[in-house]
Amino acid sequence: MKRKKVAVVTGAAGFIGSHLCERLLQEGFRVVGVDNFITGSKKNIVPFLRDRDFIFLEHNVTKYLRIQGHVDFCLHFASPASPVDYLEYPIQTLKVGSLGTHNVLGLAKEKKSKFLLASTSEVYGDPLVHPQKEEYWGNVNPIGLRGCYDESKRFAEALTMAYHREHTIDTQIVRIFNTYGPRMRMHDGRVVPNFIYQVLHHKPLTVYGRGTQTRSFCYIDDLIEGILHMMRLRIHSPINLGNPHEFTILQLAHLVTALSKSKQRIVFKPLPQDDPRQRKPDISKAKKLLKWAPLIELEEGLRRTIDWFRVL
Ligand code: NAD
Ligand code: UDP
Repeated sequence: MKRKKVAVVTGAAGFIGSHLCERLLQEGFRVVGVDNFITGSKKNIVPFLRDRDFIFLEHNVTKYLRIQGHVDFCLHFASPASPVDYLEYPIQTLKVGSLGTHNVLGLAKEKKSKFLLASTSEVYGDPLVHPQKEEYWGNVNPIGLRGCYDESKRFAEALTMAYHREHTIDTQIVRIFNTYGPRMRMHDGRVVPNFIYQVLHHKPLTVYGRGTQTRSFCYIDDLIEGILHMMRLRIHSPINLGNPHEFTILQLAHLVTALSKSKQRIVFKPLPQDDPRQRKPDISKAKKLLKWAPLIELEEGLRRTIDWFRVL
């Protein structure tokens, strides 16, 4: 009988990690999920614990990671990702991007497996080039409040490329742009769960700044599809994954209000430090090399997400 492919997923109990585990199990993988629950939730992995092909290790990946047996893929998704979370845990965020990435790369080297890093659009900082192409080097404030996240991911990318060049590891880097969907924590502080929580609980929507800053929102299923496409290929340079349709935060607030059929008012709050003014991925590279593009538009994705939050 053919041996099942084995994928180690760090950050398995988080939003993206849990969707990735679920999809890999459906694709016939054996999955080793690793998480220390700093921002993740046991609830996200409970459904897979019954699956004989899912093994869970409660472990902090900034510490040495030991896995028995064969491994085909190391998929490194562990890291706080919401600005509220990484402002609460700046040192843990820096450690998981540096020491954590080092440990997972070490595992990939030992197992002669493929390695994929979940990087981020934050490596572009507050971008001066729009939309953002992979060739753009970014505009990051290393000592600002967001520096702990941005620089940890930039270091993680540098370390990944060094392991590729020095140890010829088959590494990959995906730069993920704002992704949303079911299983985000209601109070993780990111804009989509915040607005949905607020409309469902009859509270005013908190728009930071004047709401003219832009983001481009990708539905989780599209992102997971992109990651799966990526895993099948050998591409070592970074690839942007996201939905290129750009909205202002004020437009998002109006859309969430309309879709939930509520009439909440908007309150304007101060803009957080270094909050990027614009963000939109150029996904030409993903379209060409991965033959991938997102299919689910914001309205449909928000509808599904609101339905999921309603029954929580
Ligand atoms: P999340 O907070 O829901 O999930 C992150 C998971 O990593 C959590 O379960 C957390 O407990 C775990 N974790 C953190 N540090 C750990 C450690 N030291 N050891 C073990 N587990 C640890 O966030 P998410 O949105 O699912 O993000 C997942 C990954 O995708 C992150 O690496 C993030 O940087 C990247 N990303 C996400 C987005 C997005 O829009 N959601 C955008 C860009 C990049
Ligand atoms: N934001 C907002 N109200 C909120 C939460 C966030 O206006 O209640 C804004 C935030 O200032 C940023 C954008 O929404 O401009 C996206 O924020 P998020 O935390 O989701 O992710 P980011 O893209 O900043 O990492």
